[in-house]
Amino acid sequence: MFIALFENGEVCSLLDGWTVEQLQRWRETKSFICPVCFGRVQLKIGKKRMPHFAHETRCVIETERETTAHLQGKQQLYEWVKGGPLKAEVEKYLPHIQQRPDVFVSYKEKMYALEYQCSLIPMSLFMKRTKAYMCANIVPVWILHRSYLQRRGLLFQLSSFSWLFFNDNGTITFYCPIRKQFSFLHHLIPLSATLAYGQWTTVPLHAMSFTFLHMTPQPQADTLFYVWNMKKKQWRLSPLYYRTNRTFCHIVYNAHMMPSLFPHEAGIPLRHSYWFETPPFIWQTYMLMEMMAVPLHVTFSFHQLYEQLQRFIRQNIVRVRQLPLVTTSHYSYALMDYLHALVSLRFLKKVGKSSFQRIRSWSLPSTIEEAMKGDEDVLRRIVSKKEDFFIKRE
Ligand SMILES: [Zn+2]
Repeated sequence: MFIALFENGEVCSLLDGWTVEQLQRWRETKSFICPVCFGRVQLKIGKKRMPHFAHETRCVIETERETTAHLQGKQQLYEWVKGGPLKAEVEKYLPHIQQRPDVFVSYKEKMYALEYQCSLIPMSLFMKRTKAYMCANIVPVWILHRSYLQRRGLLFQLSSFSWLFFNDNGTITFYCPIRKQFSFLHHLIPLSATLAYGQWTTVPLHAMSFTFLHMTPQPQADTLFYVWNMKKKQWRLSPLYYRTNRTFCHIVYNAHMMPSLFPHEAGIPLRHSYWFETPPFIWQTYMLMEMMAVPLHVTFSFHQLYEQLQRFIRQNIVRVRQLPLVTTSHYSYALMDYLHALVSLRFLKKVGKSSFQRIRSWSLPSTIEEAMKGDEDVLRRIVSKKEDFFIKRE
């Protein structure tokens, strides 16, 4: 940490531009205490890491291990906010919630807690901190170290920890203190629990303003069709999916279907499908089966289907993702997206605000070749209407 108290209670900030000589003198002549727990802290002046204070014993509040990356990033982000019209305070202790964000930002009536995370913390701690900020009317701004941004060809690998940083703007924000740049991963559409299609934008720190952290970058040139088509082929061809997902096989065989020959209408990219860890072709097949059970031209409501989905979730057949920073959408939105996609594929007809009728049967391919050809046609029809899932419908 950068802030400690001298023994007389005066605040000492290492970000106030002291020379190394001055710091060395202090280290020899002064002692320092933590402003939160009043425990002893040592002033560390190493060659590798920046000057910082370290507890002799543990602090009462849980803090992240202070790596070089964390110290550097925290300093850079603090100075970046401070240089603008907003007020920034590094390591400000908020006694009412017993938390100390890396950078506390205030502007007029608005308050933000900027947390720069360079190492894993338990999901429960992330949730606890986020909830405390939200209850105190402070907007949590979680930023992840750039090393967590892992490309896999045209896709991105994201752990459930990285997904926690997914915010209301549909973005995960990364920062690299070496390159001094932000990266934004946006327009994410997951293909499985840990693999997602997404687009990323990089902006140097000096070209970025704090308020822009809350904007969604524009979608770029479209690779969605290509990537999705490739992935859907993989879903059909990879025996791994079926070996590891016994429940899916079981349910599908019971319906006299081959797992690899799931309906064309399943496995469609949707704007809100980030809510599900379960691969889209799986949960969408389940939903299609429910709809096939309703006779043709008989009205059913969104809620009827939603209740079925909830049942699958309760039974752990469909898994919902934990997204503590997302407060303006819900997994039911993904189901609504799906029903609208099925309307545009002329599988359903919308007959009321939230009621539908099935107007044809699903298309079940009988061979893999047929499956891949049909998938391409379906995908083209969905993706050509890109505005459907990239632009808000509400
Ligand atoms: Zn302490």
